[in-house]
Amino acid sequence: MRKEFVVIGLGRFGGSIVEELVRLGADVMAIDSDPERVEDYAKIATEAVIADATDEEALKSLGLQNFEHVIVAIGDDIQASILATLILKEMGVPQITAKAQNDYHAKVLHKIGADVIVHPERDMGIRIANNMMSNNVLDYLELSDEYSIMEIKSNDRIAGYSIKDLDIRANYGINIIGIKRGDHIIISPGADEKILLGDVLLVIGAIVDINRFVNRAMT
Ligand code: ATP
Repeated sequence: MRKEFVVIGLGRFGGSIVEELVRLGADVMAIDSDPERVEDYAKIATEAVIADATDEEALKSLGLQNFEHVIVAIGDDIQASILATLILKEMGVPQITAKAQNDYHAKVLHKIGADVIVHPERDMGIRIANNMMSNNVLDYLELSDEYSIMEIKSNDRIAGYSIKDLDIRANYGINIIGIKRGDHIIISPGADEKILLGDVLLVIGAIVDINRFVNRAMT
């Protein structure tokens, strides 16, 4: 079964979500109050509709309650983003993802029941800062303000040692949950697993502890 999504707000963020979902084979209804933006997505989305997301009747007549997942990608107009999320929640949309402009906005979205809240600018800033701090950090998934999963490329400082040799858990309080080696992934590697040059370690733990490991053990 094809997945069905609605994206409300066709700025750079919402627009790129529409394009990627379509590329991945999903059906996407794209909504914006600005006719020019809707026109831009008329050929890309499954359906592109001009509507004001703060108009409850308009959202109901579009049958948004029948979609699995609605993304509220309105950023600047915080009031509109909150109102739209509230209406969608009351309509019983199963999964709502909303873009937050700042921490207060995120708090309100959370209170009114948005299932996932994204801060694209902040998240990208954190990711870029981490990459700048170390060329070895390839990717980054924030689990909370304090914890993350990072992909770390091994270098000659740790290659040749086993997980036990490095004693990462005791020394840094972090865990290697997987190792990407070429085309395959070693899930939950044992303590005797030797790290090879070019392995990508999937490490989970407190952000400060992972950074400590990267900065002390790998440089
Ligand atoms: P981005 O940072 O993603 O590029 P942007 O700066 O272009 O976004 P935003 O203010 O974040 O613009 O809004 C994204 C889109 O949401 C705009 O195209 C805007 O027309 C649309 N939008 C704003 N309010 C509403 C609303 N009430 N109903 C529907 N669409 C709306």
